[in-house]
Amino acid sequence: MLQKTHSLAGVLAAEGVMIYFQQPLISWESGAALLIGCLAGPLADIDKKGSTMAKVFLPLSYLLQFLGVKHRTLTHSIVALIALGFLLSPLPDFFYWTCLLAYASHPLIDLLNEQGVALFWPWKKKFRILPKFMAIDTGSFGESVFCMILLVAVIVIPFVYLLPKGML
Ligand SMILES: [Zn+2]
Repeated sequence: MLQKTHSLAGVLAAEGVMIYFQQPLISWESGAALLIGCLAGPLADIDKKGSTMAKVFLPLSYLLQFLGVKHRTLTHSIVALIALGFLLSPLPDFFYWTCLLAYASHPLIDLLNEQGVALFWPWKKKFRILPKFMAIDTGSFGESVFCMILLVAVIVIPFVYLLPKGML
């Protein structure tokens, strides 16, 4: 999937966490959560040479290249999620779940893609959840539609669930 699609999925995950923790939309925590969602969503593509995330975190992406980590393997796996879960554990609950779920949204929506994801890396088998003819190819018309659906959800959800009562 494209970076913008992943950013939207990350923001959607952050909004889900905001709803769960009943975090008011107009607060610095919510602002931070939306920003984290936007950045953590595409982060797993740091394993893809030339991707925006690889450019932003150049030393880390060089390290992954040096170690021969292939696209949609380690960074898209359950192993990475568990490691991140440990690494983030000092954070307060609200930010812990925002970071973790926004990151997890990435392999989740990549599962809709035709190439699939090595979810159980180091097992190399790639999984996808849609049959080949329905799978969403990166940059395809299907992805544009999917991206639009995410965008609408990202805009509508705060109005329905997060604005203080009486503001609508
Ligand atoms: Zn990816």
